[in-house]
Amino acid sequence: MRAAIFHEPGKIVVADVPVPRIEPDEILVRVRAASICGTDLRIAKHGHFKLPSGQTRVLGHEVAGEIVEVGPRVVGYRAGDRVSVTPNVGCGHCRHCREGLNNMCPDYEAFGITIDGGFEEYLRVPGFALQRGNVFRLPESVSYAEAALTEPFSCCYRGQRALGVGFEDVVVIIGAGPIGAFHVMLARLAGARKIIVSDHSASRLDIAGHLGADVLVDASRQDLVATVLAETRGRGADVVITAASSPQVQSGAVDLLATHGRVNFFAGLGQGGAVPIDTNKLHYKGLVLTGTTGSSNADYARALELVGQQRVRLGELVSATFPIDRIDEAFEHSASGAGMKAMVVFDDSEEVAP
Ligand SMILES: [Zn+2]
Ligand SMILES: [Zn+2]
Repeated sequence: MRAAIFHEPGKIVVADVPVPRIEPDEILVRVRAASICGTDLRIAKHGHFKLPSGQTRVLGHEVAGEIVEVGPRVVGYRAGDRVSVTPNVGCGHCRHCREGLNNMCPDYEAFGITIDGGFEEYLRVPGFALQRGNVFRLPESVSYAEAALTEPFSCCYRGQRALGVGFEDVVVIIGAGPIGAFHVMLARLAGARKIIVSDHSASRLDIAGHLGADVLVDASRQDLVATVLAETRGRGADVVITAASSPQVQSGAVDLLATHGRVNFFAGLGQGGAVPIDTNKLHYKGLVLTGTTGSSNADYARALELVGQQRVRLGELVSATFPIDRIDEAFEHSASGAGMKAMVVFDDSEEVAP
């Protein structure tokens, strides 16, 4: 089978490798769609602390496909099932895992980091991932591409649940890439009073507008604070979500908030990203600051339900598809910021949007 193998930062090689053999408690999934995430770009460029140098790995953690083989000890899954696989497998016994928060487990395994991921024709799913609930059967109405995209979407779902976004909220989303776009979809679904989106890219803002954003701010020539104040009669925003990895964006987010405003520092900053915050603003305005990372399997299940009911149309964000042999172009497309989501597909006939 063909597999895109990460060797070291800057080196991913597509090669012929044997189809993985499965153990009695494992399943084998024929991958049909795997989307590229910022995390894949980061690992491809810089590696990952859980990936020792010299260790090769197949990246890709937003993945869906069809079960082609089921070990004799597996219960509840059959060959032919359409499934998706969530990346973070919790240890199963820490405090967070016991509370269903596998995304917060300090001792996690992850597809595309510690286990081979989706950028290959056949994906072996270890028994522990099956047993901990990381394999989801797909509703008929969900395409493989949408199922793959449900992973990052579920992280946004978690982020908005933490903020309790609702119909009285003016929501500001900073960054109109795929994550910003998912946040627009969710805020629209929650009935937000007004959605203001800021980005440097006119084409991405255009997409945010199509998805339901009310006010588009071109950050290269418009002042976001002035726009938000003008759009809220000087009150400020109820909710701010940072969907751009920038210290300036984070420190500026607090200035956009109304009294009792809430912010989710959704995009991480990586190493050395400490941001000074004027705590007087928190004190006198009663602000709520939070952050979320990843999603639990419970979040994913709920997000998949929304996708299955077609209350959001994630397929609209696929801007280019590539066969596995052209994965370097898929990475370039993803890194360029020219489009939205790049999808690796394994069958020319695979439909992307339903
Ligand atoms: Zn991701
Ligand atoms: Zn755990």
